[in-house]
Amino acid sequence: MSIKITEDCINCGACEPECPNHAIYEGGKTWKMSDGNSLFHKNEDYNIPQEPKKKDTYFIVSEKCTECIGFYEEPQCIMICPVNCCILDMYETKEELINKKNLLHTHHNE
Ligand code: SF4
Ligand code: SF4
Repeated sequence: MSIKITEDCINCGACEPECPNHAIYEGGKTWKMSDGNSLFHKNEDYNIPQEPKKKDTYFIVSEKCTECIGFYEEPQCIMICPVNCCILDMYETKEELINKKNLLHTHHNE
């Protein structure tokens, strides 16, 4: 599953730097698939800025969230959030999450 942030978010910002996939953004910010990785070497489309998913609270880009698979045992945002507003959202198999992690973090000349 990927994780989502509920309306209870108090915008403390603690989760954002903990995400190994750069999948967490402040409300109102544009985001790119290529933020925090070298995806833009693969396809220029990954470098196109996308509309914020939320305006008033932090949000998680599900396309980039791997539940921290490949980095940590537990989702870091769930562990650090002081108001427990990071919750499991969309169901994805472990294989799907690993494929996502590999897409995000494969070196561009591999
Ligand atoms: S579960 Fe991990 S990868 Fe997903 S948003 Fe939280 S910190 Fe990022
Ligand atoms: S740690 Fe929790 S409350 Fe703080 S910005 Fe992230 S989701 Fe919001």
